Order: sequence, then structure tokens, then C-alpha cells
Amino acid sequence: MAKNIDWSKVGFDPIRTDFIIRSDFSGGAWSEPQAVPFDDFRLDPWAGTLHYATSCFEGLKAFRGKDGKVRIFRPDENAKRMERTAQYLGIPGPSVNMFIEMCVECVKRNIDYLPPYGYNASMYLRPILLGVSPQVGLTVPYECTFAVMCVPVGSYSGTRRLSSVKGVIVRNYDRAAPNGSGAYKLSANYPGSFKPYSEAHRFGYTEMLFLNPATKEFVDEFGSSNFFGIKGKSYVTPLSDSVLPSITNKSLRVVAEDLGYVVENRRIPSSELPEFSEVAACGTAVVITPICSLDDKPSLESEEVSAHYQYTKQGEVGPVCQKLYDHLTGIQFGEVEDIHGWTLEVK
Ligand SMILES: *Cc1c(COP(=O)(O)O)cnc(C)c1O
Repeated sequence: MAKNIDWSKVGFDPIRTDFIIRSDFSGGAWSEPQAVPFDDFRLDPWAGTLHYATSCFEGLKAFRGKDGKVRIFRPDENAKRMERTAQYLGIPGPSVNMFIEMCVECVKRNIDYLPPYGYNASMYLRPILLGVSPQVGLTVPYECTFAVMCVPVGSYSGTRRLSSVKGVIVRNYDRAAPNGSGAYKLSANYPGSFKPYSEAHRFGYTEMLFLNPATKEFVDEFGSSNFFGIKGKSYVTPLSDSVLPSITNKSLRVVAEDLGYVVENRRIPSSELPEFSEVAACGTAVVITPICSLDDKPSLESEEVSAHYQYTKQGEVGPVCQKLYDHLTGIQFGEVEDIHGWTLEVK
């Protein structure tokens, strides 16, 4: 049971909840999903996922609305994305229905951890798909585990006022290979960013902007969130094979159109960066992180800054970012009509 959570201070930390919903694939079929107590989650020490990173994940959120209803945001999109990732890994994945049903069950079984309305907080759902058959040799796993766990998350501030942060363009590291796995939510895509992140943080940058790995001419995405820029009445976001197709970005493009903006999904040369009035990172975790400035550096470790683009004062936020954010979070919290049918009500 959730005890004494101060909802106004919830951040993005791995709090233990009551249950994990789990199903195992063995002998060609998935087992009936079960709610496993959080501390009883077991893996074979030879499980392939622990040795060879046969692992992928998803991230989505459930919200307590203004009307008291509980809604999950676009779980079908996450289900389809995990299907694509499982195919890439060559392992069995849950069907779209099974994925959604287990997410719903996870919310219900851990409902005490769903933040009440009014704290700008929500429940983050984390589905994972692991190759778990015991292995030493490099083979494709024949047994897999699909599990959905959750954690209450918030914005630390508890308010919906955005604040901008500094970003840096990364030239001496890549998050994805030119013909690699960047467009799939593989767990193995992430640890490679830890070292560049710590270098970037050391110089005061919160976000890293990666360029296309083959030629470093075009904008790809931030470390774990997509890029968009505002230029006149356009919402511009990169078209690239090595970008993870963000569901937040997909949704913001529709919201932008609904609000009268034109959406441009195309290659963005890094030379275009000074032409945007606003730049932001977007993803499920924080929805929109406005970027106040971008520094271009030959290497993250060097003191040298070859170019500096300023969008707003640090902490300040452009009007379009705030408008897009208010609209999308409005839909999620049941304040704005969900005309596109994006939310799934949990009953
Ligand atoms: C998860 C992720 C995103 C954001 O995707 P959403 O579906 O919006 O949460 C963006 N980039 C990377 C690399 C990611 O892993």
C-alpha cells in the first residue's frame, strides 16, 4: 500500500509499488498474466537479458483527471512500437491487446500510487520485454518475459509552468549507428549516452542534441527525447532513420495543426538551428523541455564553443512551447476534449 507520499514532491525516482504484472513466453505461448508482488520478481542468473542485453522497453503514463477519471495516454501506440522493437530483436512480443490489458491491470493493482489531480503528477508505466532463457552462447532467446511495472512521477515543482534548460550539440559521440538500432527502443541504446551525459552536465548542459551519425549534417534528436523547433507558423521536426519515433512528438504534431501551425517533418540541417524562434525536447517523461540555448562544441570535453544559439533567457519559455504543452497535458488530465480519441479510460 502507498504510504504517506507527498504528491507535491514526486519527481522521477524508482519508488517500489505493490505489484508487477508479468507474463512468460515458453513453449511457443504466453502464460496468463499474473500480478507478482514487487519483491518476488525473479530471473535466472543465466537469463540472456543480463548478459547480452536482449531487452527493450516502453514508457507511457496514466493520469487522474479533473473529473476523477483515470486515463492512459495512447497505450496502443506504445504497444505497436514494442511490437516493432521485438521484431527487430527477433523475439516474441506481446500482442497489442495483451500489452494494453496488462497496462490497465498494472494501474488497477497499484491504484494507490496514482497521484491525485492537481499536482501535475501522474503514473509512469514501464513495460519491459526480456529474453530470459538461460544462455552462454550467442543465440536468440526461446523464452521471454513481458512485465509492466509503474511508478508515480511528477514535475518536482508540482506546477505546469515550464522552465527552459541549456543544450549542447554533440559531435564526438553518437547515440545511434547509421544503420543501427536508433529507431527502436532497445535498452542497449541508452548506456552509451551515460559518459557523454556526464561530460555535458559537467559544463552545465541539461540536454544533448545528437546529429545524424553518418554525416553529422542534420539534426537527429536529444539524448532520450525528440527535437522540434518553431519557425514562423511552422512546427519543424526531423525526418531521420536513426530517430526514435516519439509518441509525444506524434501527438504534438497533431496538436500543433489543431492550433493552426503547419507541421514540417523533414531533414533539418544543423545550419538551420539559428533560424528557430523556439527549440524544445519532447517525450513522455516531461512532455516538453524548452531549450534556452544550444552550444556547438567540437568535443564535449573541450572548453571551446564554436557556435552559440540563444532562444530565450535561461528558465524562460517561448509562447508556442507553453501553448502546446498546456493543450496536450489538458487532454491528458481530462480538461481539454480528447477529439482524437487518444486516451483510454480505466474503469
Ligand atoms: C522514449 C524516447 C523518446 C520519446 O518517446 P515518447 O514516445 O514520446 O516517450 C525519444 N527519444 C528516445 C531516444 C527515446 O528513447
